[in-house]
Amino acid sequence: MPKEYACKKCNTLTTGKVCPNCHSTELTPDWSGLIVVVDPEKSTVSKTLNISKPGRYALKVS
Ligand SMILES: [Zn+2]
Repeated sequence: MPKEYACKKCNTLTTGKVCPNCHSTELTPDWSGLIVVVDPEKSTVSKTLNISKPGRYALKVS
């Protein structure tokens, strides 16, 4: 399994070197708590984390 990195700005998980969501290169392997957002409009977690698109995100990024 490829190592996944979390974006420090928007918490998006990616296996690439650039965040596919905000195009930031500030990625870290230091994250915990994977969440999958299917419907950002109805998810309270997505509101807390400011997520507007469906996808996979880290709950905590350090
Ligand atoms: Zn990002």
